[in-house]
Amino acid sequence: MQSAYIGRFAPSPTGPLHLGSLFTALASYLDARSQQGKWLLRVDDLDTPRNKEGSVAAILKTLETFGLCWDDAVYYQSQHIDSYESFLLELEQCRLTYRCSCSRKSLEDLHSVDSPESKHTIYPGICWNKSIPAETPHAIRLKTEPTTLSFQDDLQGLISHHLANQHGDFILKRKDGIIAYQFAVVIDDYLLGVNHVVRGCDLLEETPKQIYLQQLLGFPIPTYMHVPVIVDHHGYKLSKQTLATAVDTKSPNKTLFDLLVLLKQNPPDEIKGASVDELLDWAIEHWQPDKLSLYRAISA
Ligand code: GLU
Repeated sequence: MQSAYIGRFAPSPTGPLHLGSLFTALASYLDARSQQGKWLLRVDDLDTPRNKEGSVAAILKTLETFGLCWDDAVYYQSQHIDSYESFLLELEQCRLTYRCSCSRKSLEDLHSVDSPESKHTIYPGICWNKSIPAETPHAIRLKTEPTTLSFQDDLQGLISHHLANQHGDFILKRKDGIIAYQFAVVIDDYLLGVNHVVRGCDLLEETPKQIYLQQLLGFPIPTYMHVPVIVDHHGYKLSKQTLATAVDTKSPNKTLFDLLVLLKQNPPDEIKGASVDELLDWAIEHWQPDKLSLYRAISA
């Protein structure tokens, strides 16, 4: 028997929602609702130095304005630290992790000598097999195996990565004590029973690491659908870094119609003046995610 659909949207509270995040939220909402699924809201608030005061309230309000009503109570990562720690201990006890005291600077220096053109640092395993005392500031890394991990993304096709060569031993807990994004999302999706992940293509390359963790922890593996990211006319992803402005909530039905166009759903002109709820009803009924197949970016 197939289990009921459970999807989620997981914004980080680093500012108000911009158009790119609302685009992702809408895609994930439509996918869940078109399959009579649950749609959960999680706030990824672990990276405390990046959190901005007031953004959680702003995000929730924007979602409500656009009629994207979630099920159940909002899940805050910061309230689940004990769960992350206990799963981390489980991996530690299986000797799948190690302490790493390398500084970011020392790794950057090493890397710029190796391959100056690449931004992505593959950790060269310096601290593997060292015994670093608990009192020494350290990160916790996962020892990755030299295996190839493949998954079929619902829109982006077959994605295959060699774990050790393309990702290396990645961090589960940062030196500042913060649980790394990769690790937290895997635990959260498991605890929430999420079985369908719809999110932006900027996270496509992170997914093999998450599936690897799911396999190690014996968790079920959700299906993944990575929707294109919205880019500006220079081709840059809309984000806080590119100073993308908060979504204009003055005429939500107009913005929603434009988002459905960007999602390539071809909404008919007749529904242009419809209310938010009517637009959502139309979009749920006509949702065709395959229209986005193989797009990694869409220009706003
Ligand atoms: N919080 C992440 C972000 O805003 C999304 C995490 C996820 O969907 O897995 O980029």
